[in-house]
Amino acid sequence: MRPEDFAQQIELAEWEHNQEKAIRAAPSRPSAETCAECGDAIPEDRRLAEIGCTRCVECQAQHEYEQNNRGRR
Ligand SMILES: [Zn+2]
Repeated sequence: MRPEDFAQQIELAEWEHNQEKAIRAAPSRPSAETCAECGDAIPEDRRLAEIGCTRCVECQAQHEYEQNNRGRR
């Protein structure tokens, strides 16, 4: 292997390593574009504010309300 090829290999390996790190640092799932409950489009500012969200504001509130009330009775 020529030295310049070797240097390129190292560069590539470093690049791949950084890509892997970036992927690992990123949230495991992206925000949904539409609500999983009602199918309405989720506003982009909500999707960015809450990475990984799957529901619109109303459905999320409803979901949290139900979760909070579970086991309280
Ligand atoms: Zn919804």
